[in-house]
Amino acid sequence: MKEGIHPNYNKAVIKCACGEVIETGSVKPEIKVEICSKCHPFFTGKQKLVDTGGRVDRFRKRYNLDKKEE
Ligand SMILES: [Zn+2]
Repeated sequence: MKEGIHPNYNKAVIKCACGEVIETGSVKPEIKVEICSKCHPFFTGKQKLVDTGGRVDRFRKRYNLDKKEE
């Protein structure tokens, strides 16, 4: 029995510094990030940005997967 793990999700937009806008669900209506799947070196295969590894994962965990409190 796992209750209360997911807060009330609303439709949200993630705005990346590269200009990419991603629609998602979150407890926040608008989220600004510095890197997204479109400009992440892991996805692009380019070392466009360095020392940013893990930000996407951390972001997802924080806002989507590991959100346990309102
Ligand atoms: Zn981006």
